[in-house]
Amino acid sequence: MTNQNVIMSDPRSGFDSSLLSFSPAVPGPLPQPGRFIAVPAKKSFKNIDSADAARITALLDSMRASSPTRRSSETHENLKSWIVRHPSALDMFDEIIALSKGKQIVVFLDYDGTLSPIVDDPEKAFMTTEMREAVRDTAKYFPTAIVSGRCRAKVFNFVKLSELYYAGSHGMDIKAPVKGRNYKKGSNQSVLCQPAKDFLPMIAKVYKSLVEKTKSIPGAKVENNKFCLSVHFRRVEEKRWTELAEQVKSVTKEYPKLRLTQGRKVLEIRPSIKWNKGNALEFLLESLGYANSNDVLPIYIGDDRTDEDAFKVLSIVLIFFN
Ligand SMILES: [Mg+2]
Repeated sequence: MTNQNVIMSDPRSGFDSSLLSFSPAVPGPLPQPGRFIAVPAKKSFKNIDSADAARITALLDSMRASSPTRRSSETHENLKSWIVRHPSALDMFDEIIALSKGKQIVVFLDYDGTLSPIVDDPEKAFMTTEMREAVRDTAKYFPTAIVSGRCRAKVFNFVKLSELYYAGSHGMDIKAPVKGRNYKKGSNQSVLCQPAKDFLPMIAKVYKSLVEKTKSIPGAKVENNKFCLSVHFRRVEEKRWTELAEQVKSVTKEYPKLRLTQGRKVLEIRPSIKWNKGNALEFLLESLGYANSNDVLPIYIGDDRTDEDAFKVLSIVLIFFN
């Protein structure tokens, strides 16, 4: 859908497990310890215990691995090797069409990095008019859902297409189209799922604490995604990443019912419930009348580590990478 590379994999027929460990920006095996700049733990970590320090080091190493600026000649070799093992979907269009015969295609789309570019200011991750038209055309023919870690309302404001399904907050906030055709078989009711609703007061409280705690670090930005939070590192000098991560951890350690994960230059705080983008996709497919069905061909296009939860439950995975 853009000029990015598109790779296809089929999890149900010999899914290559290396796919599940790929770094979004640089496909290939997970980084080995020490492959990136080491964090001097004893010097940097001031107010947390060694277990938390180790956890922060691991998160930051993983986050650095997700950064395109860290691409090395070694990772370029990994990229070439990975491409050989995962053919371009654009070269296999006829095969995809053949697979879809007699089946209902359902399309799932990640937002950041897939429909929009990754930009320094997450508030300005706008999609192009051409991309919006492509998504609009897709939705004319196939049930189409946007699945994002962002707040559902914010994603909708970027996409502005009311005929789509939206699953925000990593799938913890699902809403059916407000207009257009009703895809659900035998029902006129909208789909609505908010499995982490009880966490809303806690998330709001943690958001306030994080904003206060991180305001001393230039460039740090805390984004309230309603059912989860994002602490963006994109505009923070890398020498202060450890300090910022330490501040985040100092807040979240008071909330054992929340968990801390990493993405592309972002730490994310979300409820410790067994619900992710994969669960959201299964919920949507069931709502569409395709639970455990052989007459559906779900296609997911995404570029982020959190999309891997969705890859595990789908037939065809298209991965964008720069
Ligand atoms: Mg993404």
